[in-house]
Amino acid sequence: MEKSGRIEMIIGPMFSGKSSELIRRVNRYMIAGYKVQAYKPRIDNRYGTDVIASHDNEKLKAVAVSHVGQIYSRLEKDTAVVAIDEVQFLDDGILFMADWLAASGRIFIASGLNLDFRGEPFPFMGSSRTMAELIVRADRVDMLSAICTYAENGLNCGCEATRTQRIVNGEPASYDSPLIMVGASEAYEARCRNHHFVPNAPVLHLR
Ligand SMILES: [Zn+2]
Repeated sequence: MEKSGRIEMIIGPMFSGKSSELIRRVNRYMIAGYKVQAYKPRIDNRYGTDVIASHDNEKLKAVAVSHVGQIYSRLEKDTAVVAIDEVQFLDDGILFMADWLAASGRIFIASGLNLDFRGEPFPFMGSSRTMAELIVRADRVDMLSAICTYAENGLNCGCEATRTQRIVNGEPASYDSPLIMVGASEAYEARCRNHHFVPNAPVLHLR
């Protein structure tokens, strides 16, 4: 039987359960006897380098890679599924790699942030190309949401959150703040559109 490859994307803000969904989907294939190779960008050291882990402690063995070429060089002939967590932190070579893997009859499943803290398409490492290009290539896209944790007078918003609020030293991060700020205390929260604050963002004008 000829196998048909595909690209599946799991996207959304932080705290929307993307890694859990990736692990769940990959586990189904492993139970069915498919050979899986899982990867994560080396930059993401939250839970060690050799596992994909969700916030609720599910784990999947994965290889940490620092560029997309390492996914190709490690690819084994009989691998049916290639899974990648936090795919937005890789280089834009992933755009070609995803199409190539699908064309070779493999299932490519990736999870990642669609938007950066500014609410703009997440750019691949060192590139002007973004996650948007990978998402539009997909055969299936699941966009997950979190719950907005903005609170006013002790009341939580509780709306569906589609954005990630970056907070630096207790304040919403400025549009032009660098991605890495040495010595600053940083936090991230899931927010709805109304409660996503980006000081100094370009104003949208209707002409
Ligand atoms: Zn809200």
